[in-house]
Amino acid sequence: MNAITSPSTGAYRIVDHTYDVVVVGAGGAGLRATLGMGAAGLKTACVTKVFPTRSHTVAAQGGISAALGNITPDDWRWHMYDTVKGSDWLGDQDAIEYMCREAIPAIYELEHFGVPFSRTEDGRIYQRPFGGHMRDYGKEPVQRACAAADRTGHAMLHTLYQQSLKHHCEFFVEYFALDLIMDEEGACRGVIAWNLEDGTMHRFRAHMVVLATGGYGRAYQSCTSAHTCTGDGGGMVLRAGLPTQDMEFVQFHPTGIFPAGCLITEGARGEGGYLTNAAGERFMERYAPTAKDLASRDVVSRSMTIEINEGRGVGPNKDHILLHLEHLGAEILAERLPGISETAKVFAGVDVTKEPIPVLPTVHYNMGGIPTNYRAEVLRPTADDPDAVVPGLMAVGEAACVSVHGANRLGTNSLLDLVVFGRAAAHRAAEIVKPGAQHAPLPARAGEAALDRLDSRRHASGGSRVADLRAELQRTMQRHAAVFRNSASLTEGVKKMKTVWGGLSDVSVTDRSLIWNTDLVEALELDNLMGNAAATMVSAEARPESRGAHAHDDYPDRNDQDWMKHTLSWVDASGDVHLGYRPVKMQTLTNEVSVFPPKKRVY
Ligand SMILES: Cc1cc2nc3c(=O)[nH]c(=O)nc-3n(C[C@H](O)[C@H](O)[C@H](O)COP(=O)(O)OP(=O)(O)OC[C@H]3O[C@@H](n4cnc5c(N)ncnc54)[C@H](O)[C@@H]3O)c2cc1C
Repeated sequence: MNAITSPSTGAYRIVDHTYDVVVVGAGGAGLRATLGMGAAGLKTACVTKVFPTRSHTVAAQGGISAALGNITPDDWRWHMYDTVKGSDWLGDQDAIEYMCREAIPAIYELEHFGVPFSRTEDGRIYQRPFGGHMRDYGKEPVQRACAAADRTGHAMLHTLYQQSLKHHCEFFVEYFALDLIMDEEGACRGVIAWNLEDGTMHRFRAHMVVLATGGYGRAYQSCTSAHTCTGDGGGMVLRAGLPTQDMEFVQFHPTGIFPAGCLITEGARGEGGYLTNAAGERFMERYAPTAKDLASRDVVSRSMTIEINEGRGVGPNKDHILLHLEHLGAEILAERLPGISETAKVFAGVDVTKEPIPVLPTVHYNMGGIPTNYRAEVLRPTADDPDAVVPGLMAVGEAACVSVHGANRLGTNSLLDLVVFGRAAAHRAAEIVKPGAQHAPLPARAGEAALDRLDSRRHASGGSRVADLRAELQRTMQRHAAVFRNSASLTEGVKKMKTVWGGLSDVSVTDRSLIWNTDLVEALELDNLMGNAAATMVSAEARPESRGAHAHDDYPDRNDQDWMKHTLSWVDASGDVHLGYRPVKMQTLTNEVSVFPPKKRVY
């Protein structure tokens, strides 16, 4: 055991570890990468702040997409078209082609790993319809979402964890990763983490670090994601001087339970559920005549918000909408939607076999994240090379922006993204890392900046509580980076974000210990939320058009001429955000499909 000293901190005991690969995060993405690395013979550690099967992936309900065609005819090219259209032409078409084509072997692989999918009469994987997934290039809904009842993420996560154990990957559970270790040449050389249980600090050296830390839904007041979804990977990348990408695109899921925010899967509408306003009208028929309640999420969320804003909301305050499932019958509900039936009972006091569920659009998914190519390698774009790669660093899952979801993700495409790119990361690492290869010496002062930051938060003795500052951040995001945006509100949001950031210098942490100090964990998570939130607000303010989830009242149209490009955002230590842009990939990987040129997006 070594000791690291730094001017401000005195000594922290530090334990050194050496691996071929370190994966940070044990959700679907982290576990799929971990098991693949292990299977390729790489000595792999997985570091996670919660027990693997408690990662947010466990809560995923509705399904995982693949053009298997088990119930209705399907083709991966139709899936690709739907994903490009869903992304509002901001997705990279090479990566989307890769994901939709690889979906098919990736799902069969999951089946063989042991995921207990629901079955059709003849024993094949059950598939249900989902928003924005259509046949024949947008003609009518298709059944593409492979499901294990409405607990698909649960089934997947447990299976992937078992497979990782089978490949002898080592787990460091309840270790909080603080920061990346970068060398003078800009390569990533490892990561430093805090063992929450005994207070020791751990320095992991690796030829490859894979960030799989999930999204940052908790930057908002009302979201469907777990309290642990604080964008830690994005925070680490920003502190390392690397950019995040497309952060202005935040998905609101149409059906969060009102007012609790817990998710009712889109699979509920896939099985035939529908929305009504105060007049009992099925209003989606007006907004999306073909896909109706199964239009893509940004479209349905905006339609619901318009209904409420125009006075047709339900309840004494006319502030929500109703989701009907009662016509489906108790038997179907018990077989296909048991999880959400229970959630509705607990969080809304509603018996779904008899009455509708009160719902409201709620933050659900971050399309933006750490930019990567389709092999999961993290990018450090420059003016000369928009695709330059950071040696030794990968990102996968919701933490990453590949970008396959562009400006709006289709339901069931995230679970797919986790397994396809988790697997791609393992394939790529197996190509470039030789098992057991010698490590170069660590750069000087490796990990000290991280410990300095930890130490200064640990001894913070300002005038405000972490929870209060976080609430202020969440209110600012909820109000100014919402379903509908406008220039005045975004400009004010950018100003407020600066003030909220300023509050970081005045927080106090009351528990000074290093053992299970949740007060300190929350302070460190708040650092990460701040970076992600600042990037989101400033990127949104700078985009004068409406595309996917970014709906701008003053610029209601998409502007492909000037804005069909990815936003890059760098955030410095004082919260100042600097933006840049890189082109969207308008080429495919093979000749089996051609590029889908932009056109108007109607459902
Ligand atoms: C309620 C709900 C339902 C959903 N349903 C669906 C669905 O049906 N289909 C679909 O496609 N998508 C769905 N999604 C989206 C999808 O589930 C998520 O995008 C996806 O699960 C994210 O997986 P992940 O592996 O990237 O991250 P997560 O599952 O969030 O895991 C993150 C991991 O990173 C670790 N971690 C984070 N920070 C640190 C740190 N500092 N140090 C150490 N470890 C850290 C955590 O411990 C955890 O293991 C749903 C999302 C929600 C919230």
